[in-house]
Amino acid sequence: MCKNTITIYVPNGYGMKRVESKCGNTGAYGEILLYANCEEKYVKQYPQGWRDVPGDICKHGNYVGNSYCPDHICGQCEDE
Ligand SMILES: [Zn+2]
Ligand SMILES: [Zn+2]
Repeated sequence: MCKNTITIYVPNGYGMKRVESKCGNTGAYGEILLYANCEEKYVKQYPQGWRDVPGDICKHGNYVGNSYCPDHICGQCEDE
């Protein structure tokens, strides 16, 4: 995460409201907001992608908890 802010649009009444959010914050839909540079970095670090936060899906595609700790593993990871 960095100090960059991201402009996002959140539902506001019948319209959308423009807000600035810090990189790494959670957005209106529970998604993690990442500045473009950070997202690029995490995509390289976690080629398997993620659901909520970078690293929460192991290389088998299993969701392994939304911790930033890369030690979270699934049963298949354990067997390796
Ligand atoms: Zn960032
Ligand atoms: Zn695994």
